[in-house]
Amino acid sequence: MKIGILGGTFDPIHFGHLATAEAVREIFSLDEILFIPAARPPHKLNRSITAEHHRLTMTKLATRSNKFFRVSDMELQRTGLSYTLDTVNELHKIFGQSTELFFIIGADSLADLSKWHAARELVAKCHFIATTRQGVDVDFSAVEKFFGASAREHIHRVTTPGLEISSTDIREKVRQRRSIKYLVPEIVEEYIAREELYQ
Ligand code: ATP
Ligand code: MG
Repeated sequence: MKIGILGGTFDPIHFGHLATAEAVREIFSLDEILFIPAARPPHKLNRSITAEHHRLTMTKLATRSNKFFRVSDMELQRTGLSYTLDTVNELHKIFGQSTELFFIIGADSLADLSKWHAARELVAKCHFIATTRQGVDVDFSAVEKFFGASAREHIHRVTTPGLEISSTDIREKVRQRRSIKYLVPEIVEEYIAREELYQ
């Protein structure tokens, strides 16, 4: 089994997330993509994050038309600080140690990977797929220097269609009563309106 993992705040989930996940699934022949909404991440403490049940519901709604997409609430269930290493260990317990895990991260996050909790252990245990837009170069030399051989085997780079969509922009548009059509799935658009989110 090869499982792709896309973690995020998903506040809200949008077509950038979905298109990237689908492209990566195809390119790496993954059996499924697991979307894992994050509990409030430490670097976003300065803004109030939408309630977990809303973010989880929107993620479920957005992914239900793709049979390869699944959603896990494991990080929302966890109390206290959540590390990717905990998620890896938990997923290996659920799916078996031989299941290969592929974490999808933005290329900009790749530069920070060496600072992640237990970074070397993490890269030894799972794969990372750094997504970048066409024409945007990622400096891989520092990553390679830090992680050594396992960088070449476990850290992959891929260019995906450059979707200039961000949750920040969507929240701002809703606040300004502007259209978010074609940025999020219709069913998410309807949910945001019905639940009066981001106003
Ligand atoms: P925010 O604007 O609140 O930071 P976001 O749009 O960046 O939200 P996140 O939930 O933070 O969304 O992103 C989850 C993951 O998806 C991250 O790894 C991020 O790099 C990636 N991602 C976000 N937007 C896009 C996009 N348009 N195309 C591809 N990947 C994306
Ligand atoms: Mg972001």
